[in-house]
Amino acid sequence: MAKVLIIGAGGVSNVTVQKCAMLPEIFSDIVLASRTTARCEEIARRVRENTGRTITIDRVDADKTNENITLIRKHDPYLVINLALPYQDLAIMDACLETGTHYMDTANYEPPDEAKFEYRWQWEYHEKFRRRGITALLGSGFDPGVTNVFCAYAQKHLFGEIHNVDIVDCNAGDHGKPFATNFNPEINIREVTSKGKYWEKGQWLSTDPLSVHQPFDFPEIGAREMYLMYHEEMESLVKNIKGLKRMRFWMTFGKQYLTHLKVLENVGMTRIDPVLYEGMEIIPLKFLKAVLPDPGSLAENYTGKTCIGCVIEGKESGKYTRKFIYNVSDHAQTYAEVKAQAISYTTGVPAMIGAKMILTGIWKDSGVFNMEQFDPDPFMEDLNQYGLPWKIEEWNNSVQ
Ligand code: NDP
Repeated sequence: MAKVLIIGAGGVSNVTVQKCAMLPEIFSDIVLASRTTARCEEIARRVRENTGRTITIDRVDADKTNENITLIRKHDPYLVINLALPYQDLAIMDACLETGTHYMDTANYEPPDEAKFEYRWQWEYHEKFRRRGITALLGSGFDPGVTNVFCAYAQKHLFGEIHNVDIVDCNAGDHGKPFATNFNPEINIREVTSKGKYWEKGQWLSTDPLSVHQPFDFPEIGAREMYLMYHEEMESLVKNIKGLKRMRFWMTFGKQYLTHLKVLENVGMTRIDPVLYEGMEIIPLKFLKAVLPDPGSLAENYTGKTCIGCVIEGKESGKYTRKFIYNVSDHAQTYAEVKAQAISYTTGVPAMIGAKMILTGIWKDSGVFNMEQFDPDPFMEDLNQYGLPWKIEEWNNSVQ
């Protein structure tokens, strides 16, 4: 029985709050705070309708450490779940350190003025968290998150040696809009327009944005073109998966999405440096976010499925083997359950499970940790129980 404070009230938070509310024996009190309280109220209304529970609402500008400290002191939670944006990670971690509160998030820190994400900034907190006797669990979404746990599970149960990992992420859903992003547009577009990067034989190699691609035959979906990208979970996995020779991350995009993205880039709308407009400084990508559909609003008419998983090659008992560990989710089913599309759902459910691991003490250590550093088994069991069932298949085709 413990109190959680959830910061951020967007698409992912909508799922996590509802999933936590469904487990009152673990999440006995839920406080939801964000910059815009109207969005908290909307989520609270859903929770009331679906579970009969009342959650507490508050307001915070999480960029400000002092406001986070005041908020945490006011509510005194056991754990802070950060579901705002990556820009707020360090300000919230500082407040957790100050107040001695456990911390969890789903995306690693990004400085607002540079499209660059890496764990360095958060890993630097390890010693301070360790000395304070509190846990920071980083990246408890799907990717990062479940993909890290899949790799840890493969290392523990399926392979003697892991050689190659290809993380593949496909959203084959259709939301009916000409162009929209499935999670925060600003974060999504910064990620997709960055250079690709993968790890091979001990070093990082970079590629031009979306220049390397190939088809992949996704279970329950079929063949889709997927593009090599850099993704944050690789940074910790290459440290924690032993004997690894190569790790890559791939994501599928439709032609229509890519054409729109190219045009937006070409006309300068994805820029993150300020431009002067009628005497006022604006950041084109932030303005673009304001005119694009809110990812949460896509949920109602979304059809189709997502498939995210890890193709892993290596040796077991001296024999070369390749396996695919994955989950398939259906947009219409996730909407029916919590009024969310599958991208928010596949992130929001692991966030609830990560929080559950900390609250129940199943995952317990002082310091800053990535998901694969804890025992994958209880997390894998919970994925099956709380809406993200996974499969393991022998996989015949290697990823080229
Ligand atoms: P949304 O944009 O839908 O929601 C973000 C929320 O954070 C909004 O409620 C927003 O408030 C709030 N927020 C933003 N800035 C502040 C601030 N300074 N103070 C307080 N609240 C703030 O994003 P998503 O729900 O789609 O994504 C949430 C997080 O999940 C992101 O960090 C994203 O990168 C991550 N993610 C992780 C994935 C994974 O698999 N690991 C996959 C998808 C997303 P307001 O309404 O005022 O803007």
